Amino acid sequence: MRKLEGKVALVTGASRGIGRGIALRLAREGAFVAVHYGQRRNEAEAVVRQIGQSGGNACAIGADLSTLGGIEHLFTALDEAIREHTGGSGFDILVNNAGIGQILSLEETTEASFGEVMKINVEAPLFVTQQALPRMKDGGRIINVSSFVTRVASPSVFTYSMSKGAIDTFTLLLAKQLGSRKITVNAIQPGIINTEMNAGTLQDPNGQKNAAGLSVFNRWGEPDDIADVAAFLASPDSRWVTGQLIDASGGSHL
Ligand code: NAD
Repeated sequence: MRKLEGKVALVTGASRGIGRGIALRLAREGAFVAVHYGQRRNEAEAVVRQIGQSGGNACAIGADLSTLGGIEHLFTALDEAIREHTGGSGFDILVNNAGIGQILSLEETTEASFGEVMKINVEAPLFVTQQALPRMKDGGRIINVSSFVTRVASPSVFTYSMSKGAIDTFTLLLAKQLGSRKITVNAIQPGIINTEMNAGTLQDPNGQKNAAGLSVFNRWGEPDDIADVAAFLASPDSRWVTGQLIDASGGSHL
């Protein structure tokens, strides 16, 4: 039996990369998936089509998460989509995946660059979750996408790492607060994954070697490596797992 039959999921930043992988995987388990995207509507619609062709059900919702207005729009559209596609209201699974990378050292950091990474990687998940909670069903699941750089100090991505450190703490706080509603909250910490965020690194032969060498399996990760962890955390099998920061870096933290 599919493990997410009858469940409704929202995955932010699901038009490409890790979010896309998670959206496809949750849909395969039977969930209705709201595929959120920032700008590239075509890509999000392609994900929705792919889900439909595999017998699943999904919709695409565009919203800029860098403004509160954009976040409110996301949820107004989500409410409508859930009514239209499932006839019900409320949802079960939130995946806070959307984020930006930022390769900057401490010395290179500016007030503007710091503001940008904190806005998208910290402020957006905070206010997305604030809007999500009144709509989430008890027994639901929140999955935050953090990074292995919160375990492996990497000064070349100084402020990006700080932003993901905030996500780890956010995960612990939420897990404690939402226990009374039987909502589990966990974070996945991917290592280097083959997505557009790493296009620069993975197109360069030296970058490829370094990225593969970080993992004990001598390869970089693919979005499916993360999607499978997310599917477990979204499923009933993970009911006794909450407040966990789960490394999914192929041992890059070792
Ligand atoms: P990606 O660049 O391929 O995708 C990022 C997604 O976030 C896109 O869909 C984009 O539209 C969305 N997004 C960004 N800014 C937005 C905004 N202002 N409004 C709305 N949407 C916005 O990146 P990815 O590699 O798939 O990363 C997904 C998550 O995984 C991020 O949180 C990232 O920090 C984290 N992560 C990635 C890696 C990696 O190696 N790729 C490693 C660890 C953690």
